[in-house]
Amino acid sequence: MTNRRPTRIHCEIDLARDGKQVGYLRVPHSVHRSAYGWLPVPIVSIRNGDGPRALLLAGNHGDEYEGQVALAKLVRALEPGAIRGRVVVMPMANFPAAMAGLRTSPLDEGNLNRTFPGDPDGSVTAMLAHFIEDVLLPQSDFMIDLHSGGSSLHYLPTGMIRVTADKALAARCRALLEAFAPPHAITISMGGEDRTSIAAGLRAGVVTMVTELGGSGTVSPDCLRHAEHGVRRALRHMGILQGGPGADEPPPLAPRWLSIGGDRAYLYAPEPGLFEPRVDLGEWVKSGQSAGAIHDPATPWRAPAEVTFRYDCYVLCKRVPGRVERGDCLFHLASAP
Ligand SMILES: [Zn+2]
Repeated sequence: MTNRRPTRIHCEIDLARDGKQVGYLRVPHSVHRSAYGWLPVPIVSIRNGDGPRALLLAGNHGDEYEGQVALAKLVRALEPGAIRGRVVVMPMANFPAAMAGLRTSPLDEGNLNRTFPGDPDGSVTAMLAHFIEDVLLPQSDFMIDLHSGGSSLHYLPTGMIRVTADKALAARCRALLEAFAPPHAITISMGGEDRTSIAAGLRAGVVTMVTELGGSGTVSPDCLRHAEHGVRRALRHMGILQGGPGADEPPPLAPRWLSIGGDRAYLYAPEPGLFEPRVDLGEWVKSGQSAGAIHDPATPWRAPAEVTFRYDCYVLCKRVPGRVERGDCLFHLASAP
């Protein structure tokens, strides 16, 4: 824990009590139209005695909808009698961003997944990050943070864990991801960005995984199914959800294991213009192969800028909008494990 000052967020529900409790985190937000106001960030606790404790997040990025829908459905369906231990659910973790349908918060431009460990005296986004890292994670054994590609990207349905020096923790993260059983399972190389939820979870010694389930600024039935069934399988693996799978639950897939590491996994637009992709999701591509071209229809006689893959890789994620600026991510690429 890097910051031991107390949170200023008031949690309406008592996380130590048994039963299903629903309410809000009250994030102080004193502004012109509401002098002593607070922002209502929804939180639910479902508890049945002592046992394993899970933290489920969605809406960390507000324009990633599959997880928000899946967790709202879970909150309504899950009753304390069906579990042992506790599930805490925040379906709109960055509430202002989620209400606006934006990746980042319209209040402070905060990207929650670049804000951990947060700051109890900082912006709204920083206060939320601090609450998750300093209040919720220390009382959790497992965390699943449900992401997707949001408005600008589309991912094949994927679960991700990060390599960590703690071998025992790494093995438990891998077992959790195998239980979730998404079609694609990714190990992210050690190090890298330390302001994400996955980094926060591992700092706290919590068994952590994240997902990237679809995107394109919408909800697809296929990705929603992977989210709902994956979370239930994971809760059973944790020892929280009791009983076997429901009749509507298909048998889990054997995930395709891949890895992601370093800057080369991101292919960026070298010029502004209109992007013509020449590959699609789920293709294995070769070093030197054309990824696409960026056209400038305002100067149609000029040759387009060519974009090529720099190593043999798997196309896991692609940009959605056709219009690109220099520096926009066109593809997120994976490698053999
Ligand atoms: Zn995200």
